[in-house]
Amino acid sequence: MQHSSPVLNPSADPMDELCDELARLANTISEVAHWPAESLRLCGERGVYRWFLPQEQGGYGWSESDQIRGYLRLSQADLTTTFVITQYMGAVRRLAASGNEIVIGDWLESLIDGTRFSTVGISHLTTSRRHLSQPALRAQPVPGGYLLDGLAPWVTGAPHADLYVVGATLPDGQQVLLAVPSTLEGIKAGPGHALVALSASCTDQVSFDHVQVAEEFLLNGPSENVLKSATGIRTGGLQTSTLAIGLSQAAVNFLSSEASKRADLRDAAGELSQEVAELAQRLLHASAGDTDCDTSEIRTAANRLALRTTQAALTAAKGAGFVKGHPVGRWCREALFFLVWSCPQPIAQAHLCELAFGTHS
Ligand SMILES: Cc1cc2nc3c(=O)[nH]c(=O)nc-3n(C[C@H](O)[C@H](O)[C@H](O)COP(=O)(O)OP(=O)(O)OC[C@H]3O[C@@H](n4cnc5c(N)ncnc54)[C@H](O)[C@@H]3O)c2cc1C
Repeated sequence: MQHSSPVLNPSADPMDELCDELARLANTISEVAHWPAESLRLCGERGVYRWFLPQEQGGYGWSESDQIRGYLRLSQADLTTTFVITQYMGAVRRLAASGNEIVIGDWLESLIDGTRFSTVGISHLTTSRRHLSQPALRAQPVPGGYLLDGLAPWVTGAPHADLYVVGATLPDGQQVLLAVPSTLEGIKAGPGHALVALSASCTDQVSFDHVQVAEEFLLNGPSENVLKSATGIRTGGLQTSTLAIGLSQAAVNFLSSEASKRADLRDAAGELSQEVAELAQRLLHASAGDTDCDTSEIRTAANRLALRTTQAALTAAKGAGFVKGHPVGRWCREALFFLVWSCPQPIAQAHLCELAFGTHS
Protein backbone atom coordinates (compact mmCIF):
# COMPACT_ATOMS: atom_id res chain seq x y z
CA MET A 1 0.00 0.00 0.00
CA GLN A 2 1.48 3.36 -1.02
CA HIS A 3 2.09 5.96 1.70
CA SER A 4 1.64 9.53 0.51
CA SER A 5 2.49 12.32 2.92
CA PRO A 6 -0.01 15.07 3.71
CA VAL A 7 1.97 18.29 3.87
CA LEU A 8 5.64 17.57 3.45
CA ASN A 9 5.56 19.02 -0.04
CA PRO A 10 2.55 21.32 0.02
CA SER A 11 3.09 22.89 -3.39
CA ALA A 12 3.23 19.65 -5.35
CA ASP A 13 1.11 17.42 -3.19
CA PRO A 14 -2.43 16.37 -4.24
CA MET A 15 -3.40 17.52 -0.74
CA ASP A 16 -3.43 21.10 -2.03
CA GLU A 17 -5.85 20.25 -4.82
CA LEU A 18 -8.14 18.38 -2.43
CA CYS A 19 -8.14 21.27 0.05
CA ASP A 20 -8.89 23.82 -2.69
CA GLU A 21 -11.88 21.75 -3.77
CA LEU A 22 -13.08 21.31 -0.19
CA ALA A 23 -12.75 25.05 0.49
CA ARG A 24 -14.77 25.85 -2.62
CA LEU A 25 -17.51 23.37 -1.66
CA ALA A 26 -17.51 24.61 1.97
CA ASN A 27 -19.20 27.82 0.82
CA THR A 28 -22.13 25.79 -0.48
CA ILE A 29 -22.88 23.69 2.61
CA SER A 30 -24.64 25.57 5.36
CA GLU A 31 -27.99 23.88 5.94
CA VAL A 32 -29.21 20.46 7.06
CA ALA A 33 -30.21 19.83 3.44
CA HIS A 34 -26.56 20.20 2.34
CA TRP A 35 -25.04 16.94 3.59
CA PRO A 36 -21.46 17.12 2.17
CA ALA A 37 -21.73 13.94 0.08
CA GLU A 38 -19.50 15.30 -2.70
CA SER A 39 -16.76 16.43 -0.30
CA LEU A 40 -16.84 13.08 1.49
CA ARG A 41 -16.71 11.28 -1.87
CA LEU A 42 -13.62 13.29 -2.86
CA CYS A 43 -11.94 12.45 0.44
CA GLY A 44 -12.71 8.76 -0.07
CA GLU A 45 -11.36 8.88 -3.62
CA ARG A 46 -8.11 10.55 -2.43
CA GLY A 47 -7.58 7.94 0.28
CA VAL A 48 -8.19 10.16 3.31
CA TYR A 49 -9.97 7.38 5.21
CA ARG A 50 -6.90 5.18 4.88
CA TRP A 51 -4.69 7.61 6.83
CA PHE A 52 -6.00 6.30 10.11
CA LEU A 53 -5.50 2.55 9.84
CA PRO A 54 -2.44 0.29 9.82
CA GLN A 55 -1.32 -1.16 6.50
CA GLU A 56 -2.41 -4.68 7.43
CA GLN A 57 -6.00 -3.39 7.64
CA GLY A 58 -5.90 -1.59 4.28
CA GLY A 59 -4.69 1.76 5.66
CA TYR A 60 -1.59 3.84 4.99
CA GLY A 61 -0.37 3.48 8.56
CA TRP A 62 0.21 7.20 9.09
CA SER A 63 1.74 8.24 12.39
CA GLU A 64 -0.42 10.25 14.78
CA SER A 65 1.57 13.38 13.87
CA ASP A 66 0.90 12.89 10.16
CA GLN A 67 -2.79 12.35 10.88
CA ILE A 68 -2.79 15.62 12.84
CA ARG A 69 -1.02 17.40 9.95
CA GLY A 70 -3.65 16.03 7.59
CA TYR A 71 -6.55 17.12 9.82
CA LEU A 72 -4.98 20.59 10.17
CA ARG A 73 -5.05 20.98 6.40
CA LEU A 74 -8.59 19.63 5.94
CA SER A 75 -10.10 21.68 8.77
CA GLN A 76 -8.62 24.89 7.39
CA ALA A 77 -10.41 24.17 4.14
CA ASP A 78 -13.76 22.89 5.42
CA LEU A 79 -14.55 22.42 9.08
CA THR A 80 -17.94 20.75 8.55
CA THR A 81 -16.66 17.94 6.34
CA THR A 82 -13.59 17.48 8.51
CA PHE A 83 -15.72 17.24 11.62
CA VAL A 84 -17.94 14.62 9.94
CA ILE A 85 -14.76 12.69 9.05
CA THR A 86 -13.63 12.70 12.70
CA GLN A 87 -16.88 11.02 13.76
CA TYR A 88 -16.74 8.64 10.78
CA MET A 89 -13.15 7.70 11.58
CA GLY A 90 -14.05 7.43 15.27
CA ALA A 91 -16.40 4.62 14.28
CA VAL A 92 -13.95 3.05 11.82
CA ARG A 93 -11.02 3.03 14.25
CA ARG A 94 -13.08 1.53 17.05
CA LEU A 95 -14.35 -1.14 14.71
CA ALA A 96 -10.86 -1.85 13.35
CA ALA A 97 -9.36 -2.06 16.85
CA SER A 98 -12.12 -4.27 18.25
CA GLY A 99 -10.67 -7.59 17.09
CA ASN A 100 -14.17 -8.61 15.95
CA GLU A 101 -13.16 -10.34 12.72
CA ILE A 102 -16.74 -10.87 11.50
CA VAL A 103 -17.67 -7.18 11.63
CA ILE A 104 -14.24 -6.15 10.34
CA GLY A 105 -14.56 -8.56 7.40
CA ASP A 106 -18.10 -7.45 6.55
CA TRP A 107 -17.66 -3.70 6.94
CA LEU A 108 -14.14 -2.28 7.14
CA GLU A 109 -13.07 -2.09 3.47
CA SER A 110 -16.36 -0.59 2.28
CA LEU A 111 -16.09 2.04 5.03
CA ILE A 112 -12.54 3.10 4.21
CA ASP A 113 -13.09 3.15 0.46
CA GLY A 114 -15.98 5.53 1.13
CA THR A 115 -18.82 3.43 -0.29
CA ARG A 116 -20.48 3.05 3.12
CA PHE A 117 -20.66 5.55 5.97
CA SER A 118 -20.45 4.98 9.70
CA THR A 119 -20.58 7.27 12.73
CA VAL A 120 -20.44 7.21 16.52
CA GLY A 121 -22.99 7.71 19.29
CA ILE A 122 -20.84 7.52 22.41
CA SER A 123 -20.91 10.91 24.12
CA HIS A 124 -23.64 9.79 26.54
CA LEU A 125 -20.90 7.65 28.11
CA THR A 126 -18.58 10.66 28.57
CA THR A 127 -19.84 14.23 28.22
CA SER A 128 -23.60 14.16 27.54
CA ARG A 129 -26.56 13.48 29.86
CA ARG A 130 -24.26 12.36 32.65
CA HIS A 131 -26.40 14.12 35.27
CA LEU A 132 -29.52 12.04 34.53
CA SER A 133 -30.47 9.09 36.76
CA GLN A 134 -31.12 6.65 33.90
CA PRO A 135 -28.52 5.90 31.18
CA ALA A 136 -29.52 7.42 27.82
CA LEU A 137 -29.02 4.13 25.98
CA ARG A 138 -29.59 0.80 27.71
CA ALA A 139 -28.58 -2.71 26.63
CA GLN A 140 -30.39 -5.71 28.08
CA PRO A 141 -28.56 -9.04 27.61
CA VAL A 142 -30.87 -11.55 25.90
CA PRO A 143 -30.11 -14.99 24.42
CA GLY A 144 -27.91 -14.43 21.35
CA GLY A 145 -27.20 -10.74 21.93
CA TYR A 146 -28.60 -7.50 23.35
CA LEU A 147 -31.83 -5.55 23.30
CA LEU A 148 -31.21 -1.81 22.89
CA ASP A 149 -33.58 0.82 24.27
CA GLY A 150 -33.25 4.58 24.59
CA LEU A 151 -31.30 7.01 22.49
CA ALA A 152 -27.91 8.22 21.43
CA PRO A 153 -28.50 11.97 21.84
CA TRP A 154 -25.79 13.21 19.46
CA VAL A 155 -24.93 11.37 16.27
CA THR A 156 -23.27 13.21 13.41
CA GLY A 157 -24.51 12.14 9.98
CA ALA A 158 -27.31 10.26 11.76
CA PRO A 159 -29.71 9.95 8.78
CA HIS A 160 -26.90 9.01 6.36
CA ALA A 161 -25.21 6.20 8.27
CA ASP A 162 -25.10 2.57 7.20
CA LEU A 163 -23.62 1.57 10.55
CA TYR A 164 -23.68 3.14 14.03
CA VAL A 165 -21.02 2.46 16.63
CA VAL A 166 -22.82 3.08 19.90
CA GLY A 167 -22.12 2.74 23.58
CA ALA A 168 -24.82 1.39 25.88
CA THR A 169 -25.15 0.60 29.58
CA LEU A 170 -26.16 -2.79 31.00
CA PRO A 171 -28.48 -3.15 34.03
CA ASP A 172 -25.43 -3.82 36.26
CA GLY A 173 -23.78 -0.54 35.15
CA GLN A 174 -21.21 -2.15 32.85
CA GLN A 175 -20.95 -0.81 29.32
CA VAL A 176 -20.82 -2.33 25.85
CA LEU A 177 -19.75 -0.94 22.49
CA LEU A 178 -21.84 -2.28 19.62
CA ALA A 179 -21.79 -1.99 15.83
CA VAL A 180 -25.41 -1.52 14.83
CA PRO A 181 -26.50 -1.60 11.16
CA SER A 182 -28.93 1.27 10.56
CA THR A 183 -31.38 -1.08 8.82
CA LEU A 184 -32.25 -2.98 12.02
CA GLU A 185 -35.89 -2.77 13.07
CA GLY A 186 -36.70 -0.18 15.77
CA ILE A 187 -34.03 2.39 14.84
CA LYS A 188 -35.08 5.94 14.07
CA ALA A 189 -32.62 8.69 13.12
CA GLY A 190 -33.55 12.36 13.18
CA PRO A 191 -32.89 14.35 9.99
CA GLY A 192 -30.36 16.70 11.64
CA HIS A 193 -30.81 19.72 13.92
CA ALA A 194 -30.52 23.23 12.54
CA LEU A 195 -27.42 24.31 14.49
CA VAL A 196 -25.59 27.58 15.19
CA ALA A 197 -22.94 26.22 12.81
CA LEU A 198 -22.13 22.91 11.06
CA SER A 199 -25.81 22.21 10.32
CA ALA A 200 -24.75 20.27 7.22
CA SER A 201 -23.17 17.69 9.53
CA CYS A 202 -26.75 16.42 10.00
CA THR A 203 -26.25 15.80 13.71
CA ASP A 204 -29.29 14.48 15.51
CA GLN A 205 -30.41 11.82 17.94
CA VAL A 206 -30.89 8.18 17.03
CA SER A 207 -33.53 6.34 18.99
CA PHE A 208 -33.59 2.60 19.64
CA ASP A 209 -36.88 0.90 20.42
CA HIS A 210 -36.36 -2.75 21.38
CA VAL A 211 -33.61 -3.14 18.81
CA GLN A 212 -32.27 -6.69 18.72
CA VAL A 213 -28.50 -6.68 18.17
CA ALA A 214 -26.80 -10.05 17.68
CA GLU A 215 -23.82 -10.97 19.87
CA GLU A 216 -21.61 -10.97 16.75
CA PHE A 217 -21.92 -7.16 16.60
CA LEU A 218 -20.30 -6.68 20.00
CA LEU A 219 -17.13 -4.65 19.53
CA ASN A 220 -16.01 -4.30 23.15
CA GLY A 221 -17.10 -5.01 26.69
CA PRO A 222 -18.94 -5.54 28.83
CA SER A 223 -16.65 -3.49 31.04
CA GLU A 224 -16.80 -0.57 33.42
CA ASN A 225 -15.42 2.06 31.07
CA VAL A 226 -15.70 0.55 27.64
CA LEU A 227 -14.33 3.55 25.73
CA LYS A 228 -11.12 3.64 27.72
CA SER A 229 -10.45 0.06 28.60
CA ALA A 230 -11.36 -1.63 25.35
CA THR A 231 -9.57 0.14 22.54
CA GLY A 232 -7.20 2.74 23.94
CA ILE A 233 -8.67 5.27 21.49
CA ARG A 234 -9.14 8.60 23.22
CA THR A 235 -12.27 10.70 22.84
CA GLY A 236 -11.73 14.41 22.25
CA GLY A 237 -8.15 15.26 23.11
CA LEU A 238 -5.77 16.30 20.37
CA GLN A 239 -8.16 15.77 17.50
CA THR A 240 -10.61 18.38 18.80
CA SER A 241 -7.74 20.84 19.34
CA THR A 242 -6.48 20.13 15.82
CA LEU A 243 -9.74 21.20 14.23
CA ALA A 244 -9.86 24.36 16.37
CA ILE A 245 -6.30 25.23 15.28
CA GLY A 246 -7.15 24.47 11.64
CA LEU A 247 -10.07 26.90 11.86
CA SER A 248 -7.79 29.50 13.49
CA GLN A 249 -5.34 29.08 10.62
CA ALA A 250 -8.10 29.76 8.08
CA ALA A 251 -9.02 32.98 9.93
CA VAL A 252 -5.39 34.05 10.22
CA ASN A 253 -4.78 33.41 6.51
CA PHE A 254 -7.66 35.76 5.73
CA LEU A 255 -6.35 38.36 8.17
CA SER A 256 -2.83 38.16 6.71
CA SER A 257 -4.10 38.53 3.18
CA GLU A 258 -6.07 41.65 4.21
CA ALA A 259 -3.01 42.93 6.08
CA SER A 260 -0.95 42.78 2.89
CA LYS A 261 -3.18 45.61 1.63
CA ARG A 262 -3.89 47.40 4.95
CA ALA A 263 -1.07 48.48 7.23
CA ASP A 264 -3.41 48.88 10.23
CA LEU A 265 -3.95 45.12 10.34
CA ARG A 266 -0.31 44.08 10.22
CA ASP A 267 0.48 43.94 13.94
CA ALA A 268 -2.61 41.89 14.77
CA ALA A 269 -2.10 39.56 11.80
CA GLY A 270 1.57 39.03 12.72
CA GLU A 271 0.84 38.32 16.38
CA LEU A 272 -2.02 35.91 15.73
CA SER A 273 -0.14 34.10 12.94
CA GLN A 274 2.71 33.50 15.31
CA GLU A 275 0.41 32.23 18.07
CA VAL A 276 -1.31 29.81 15.69
CA ALA A 277 2.05 28.53 14.41
CA GLU A 278 3.36 28.05 17.97
CA LEU A 279 0.25 26.21 19.12
CA ALA A 280 0.31 23.98 16.03
CA GLN A 281 3.91 23.16 16.91
CA ARG A 282 2.95 22.25 20.51
CA LEU A 283 0.14 20.10 19.14
CA LEU A 284 2.56 18.23 16.88
CA HIS A 285 5.00 17.72 19.74
CA ALA A 286 2.18 16.34 21.88
CA SER A 287 1.11 14.00 19.08
CA ALA A 288 4.69 12.74 18.87
CA GLY A 289 4.51 11.80 22.55
CA ASP A 290 6.14 14.85 24.20
CA THR A 291 4.77 14.59 27.73
CA ASP A 292 5.69 18.23 28.53
CA CYS A 293 2.77 19.24 26.31
CA ASP A 294 -0.39 19.05 28.40
CA THR A 295 -3.32 18.10 26.14
CA SER A 296 -5.90 19.95 28.29
CA GLU A 297 -3.83 23.12 28.12
CA ILE A 298 -3.56 22.75 24.35
CA ARG A 299 -7.33 22.29 24.15
CA THR A 300 -8.15 25.43 26.16
CA ALA A 301 -5.55 27.43 24.22
CA ALA A 302 -6.97 26.14 20.91
CA ASN A 303 -10.53 27.06 21.87
CA ARG A 304 -9.41 30.53 22.92
CA LEU A 305 -7.42 31.04 19.73
CA ALA A 306 -10.31 29.91 17.51
CA LEU A 307 -12.54 32.55 19.11
CA ARG A 308 -9.91 35.31 18.95
CA THR A 309 -8.71 34.70 15.39
CA THR A 310 -12.18 34.38 13.88
CA GLN A 311 -13.36 37.54 15.63
CA ALA A 312 -10.21 39.38 14.52
CA ALA A 313 -10.95 38.24 10.96
CA LEU A 314 -14.52 39.54 11.29
CA THR A 315 -13.25 42.87 12.61
CA ALA A 316 -11.01 43.13 9.55
CA ALA A 317 -13.79 42.08 7.16
CA LYS A 318 -16.12 44.69 8.74
CA GLY A 319 -19.78 44.79 7.66
CA ALA A 320 -19.07 42.75 4.53
CA GLY A 321 -18.01 39.85 6.77
CA PHE A 322 -21.29 40.09 8.66
CA VAL A 323 -23.36 39.45 5.53
CA LYS A 324 -24.61 35.87 5.35
CA GLY A 325 -22.48 33.82 2.96
CA HIS A 326 -19.14 35.49 3.77
CA PRO A 327 -16.79 32.79 5.12
CA VAL A 328 -15.63 34.97 8.03
CA GLY A 329 -19.12 35.04 9.57
CA ARG A 330 -19.28 31.27 9.24
CA TRP A 331 -15.88 30.85 10.90
CA CYS A 332 -17.04 32.96 13.87
CA ARG A 333 -20.04 30.70 14.36
CA GLU A 334 -17.91 27.59 13.87
CA ALA A 335 -15.51 28.74 16.60
CA LEU A 336 -18.39 28.52 19.11
CA PHE A 337 -18.69 24.81 18.39
CA PHE A 338 -15.47 24.12 20.29
CA LEU A 339 -17.09 25.39 23.48
CA VAL A 340 -19.49 22.44 23.40
CA TRP A 341 -17.96 19.64 21.33
CA SER A 342 -16.42 16.91 23.45
CA CYS A 343 -15.65 19.50 26.10
CA PRO A 344 -14.91 17.79 29.43
CA GLN A 345 -15.87 19.54 32.66
CA PRO A 346 -12.37 20.86 33.58
CA ILE A 347 -12.03 22.54 30.18
CA ALA A 348 -15.54 24.02 30.35
CA GLN A 349 -14.66 25.23 33.86
CA ALA A 350 -11.44 26.89 32.64
CA HIS A 351 -13.47 28.76 30.01
CA LEU A 352 -16.04 29.91 32.51
CA CYS A 353 -13.28 31.09 34.81
CA GLU A 354 -11.67 33.06 32.01
CA LEU A 355 -14.98 34.58 30.91
CA ALA A 356 -15.95 35.51 34.46
CA PHE A 357 -12.61 36.62 35.86
CA GLY A 358 -10.56 37.31 32.73
CA THR A 359 -7.75 34.97 33.83
CA HIS A 360 -6.33 31.75 32.48
CA SER A 361 -6.47 29.22 35.29
C1 LIG B 1 -22.82 19.55 16.50
C2 LIG B 1 -22.51 18.44 17.46
C3 LIG B 1 -22.15 17.21 16.97
C4 LIG B 1 -21.87 16.14 17.84
N1 LIG B 1 -21.59 14.91 17.31
C5 LIG B 1 -21.43 13.86 18.12
C6 LIG B 1 -21.25 12.54 17.58
O1 LIG B 1 -21.23 12.33 16.37
N2 LIG B 1 -21.12 11.51 18.45
C7 LIG B 1 -21.13 11.69 19.79
O2 LIG B 1 -21.00 10.70 20.51
N3 LIG B 1 -21.30 12.92 20.33
C8 LIG B 1 -21.44 14.01 19.54
N4 LIG B 1 -21.65 15.27 20.09
C9 LIG B 1 -21.76 15.41 21.57
C10 LIG B 1 -20.70 16.27 22.22
O3 LIG B 1 -19.44 15.68 22.12
C11 LIG B 1 -21.04 16.54 23.70
O4 LIG B 1 -21.22 15.36 24.40
C12 LIG B 1 -22.30 17.37 23.84
O5 LIG B 1 -22.10 18.59 23.13
C13 LIG B 1 -22.61 17.66 25.32
O6 LIG B 1 -23.77 18.48 25.37
P1 LIG B 1 -25.15 18.03 26.06
O7 LIG B 1 -26.13 19.12 25.78
O8 LIG B 1 -25.53 16.67 25.62
O9 LIG B 1 -24.70 18.01 27.60
P2 LIG B 1 -25.55 17.68 28.90
O10 LIG B 1 -24.56 17.58 30.02
O11 LIG B 1 -26.45 16.53 28.69
O12 LIG B 1 -26.40 18.99 29.10
C14 LIG B 1 -27.73 19.17 28.54
C15 LIG B 1 -28.52 20.12 29.40
O13 LIG B 1 -28.69 19.51 30.67
C16 LIG B 1 -28.57 20.45 31.71
N5 LIG B 1 -27.49 20.04 32.66
C17 LIG B 1 -26.21 19.75 32.36
N6 LIG B 1 -25.53 19.38 33.46
C18 LIG B 1 -26.40 19.43 34.49
C19 LIG B 1 -26.31 19.17 35.88
N7 LIG B 1 -25.18 18.76 36.44
N8 LIG B 1 -27.41 19.33 36.63
C20 LIG B 1 -28.58 19.72 36.07
N9 LIG B 1 -28.74 20.01 34.75
C21 LIG B 1 -27.66 19.86 33.96
C22 LIG B 1 -28.27 21.79 31.07
O14 LIG B 1 -29.47 22.53 30.99
C23 LIG B 1 -27.80 21.45 29.68
O15 LIG B 1 -28.15 22.41 28.72
C24 LIG B 1 -21.93 16.35 19.24
C25 LIG B 1 -22.28 17.61 19.75
C26 LIG B 1 -22.58 18.64 18.88
C27 LIG B 1 -23.00 19.97 19.44
